[in-house]
Amino acid sequence: MNDETRKELKAWLEFYQELGIEGPYLRKPGNVGTHAVVEAAQTAPVAAVAPSKPIQPPAPKWAPTRPVAPPAVAKPAPPPAAAAIRPLAPAFNLFEAPPAPRSGPETLEQIRQDLGDCRRCKLAPTRKTIVFGVGDPHAALVFVGEGPGADEDEQGLPFVGRAGKLLNRIMQSVGLKREEVYICNVVKCRPPGNRTPEKDEIDSCSPFLYRQIESINPRLVCCLGAPAARTLLGIKEGITKVRGQFFNFGAAKALATVHPAYVLRNPREEKILREDFEKIRDFLSGA
Ligand code: SF4
Repeated sequence: MNDETRKELKAWLEFYQELGIEGPYLRKPGNVGTHAVVEAAQTAPVAAVAPSKPIQPPAPKWAPTRPVAPPAVAKPAPPPAAAAIRPLAPAFNLFEAPPAPRSGPETLEQIRQDLGDCRRCKLAPTRKTIVFGVGDPHAALVFVGEGPGADEDEQGLPFVGRAGKLLNRIMQSVGLKREEVYICNVVKCRPPGNRTPEKDEIDSCSPFLYRQIESINPRLVCCLGAPAARTLLGIKEGITKVRGQFFNFGAAKALATVHPAYVLRNPREEKILREDFEKIRDFLSGA
């Protein structure tokens, strides 16, 4: 250590002592500290401890610390602009299909449209017209006959022939109006020669009948004749045995009676039809 270095170290030592720092130490070789530097400044040869860098005086303890900024107080968020307030979108689950829009019961028009120019059974080639049904689409009473006859096939309307006229007369006799009821048949196409509809024909056509009844949602379904009673009520007995009785039919009731065409062939049986129609009237009037 030369004289100049020694002086410099001495000045540093005095400087530390003025600051109140006593006994600076220097780490041992490999662990050199300030104390060893001071000791070496007094005893060791200068070349052994020559600092590689100029030593800067440490900042005095009393040096004012940098003022710490007070913690920032979070400002309340400004209220969102009115335009930014939007209702939350409904939760959407990617794994669920969106609910289908609600639709009410199908209408008679929709059922008729679905039936189209029907060729679902072997009655199609011989018919002239599909006889879908007629009347109040919200009727409390639905009459279901067997199938169209010649007049019905011609006009496209049910019960417009002689049997229909009798039906109108019996209805009038008990205070029922044709325009207030709905009239249709088990099959919508005329069976050749007015024969009884066959099972495969009924199986093909009756789904449309069920849909019609469901659409109308009547209080009472009146089966006119055995084919209607068999189709709708599953009755295997003869119609004269079950006529005049009420059956459960879903939320509605059903009653079977003889077909007006039967009364035309057996005029003395008209009283049967009249009797059953009186029951229908009483049922609808709540008596
Ligand atoms: S009777 Fe019914 S199922 Fe058969 S062709 Fe006529 S509408 Fe179609």
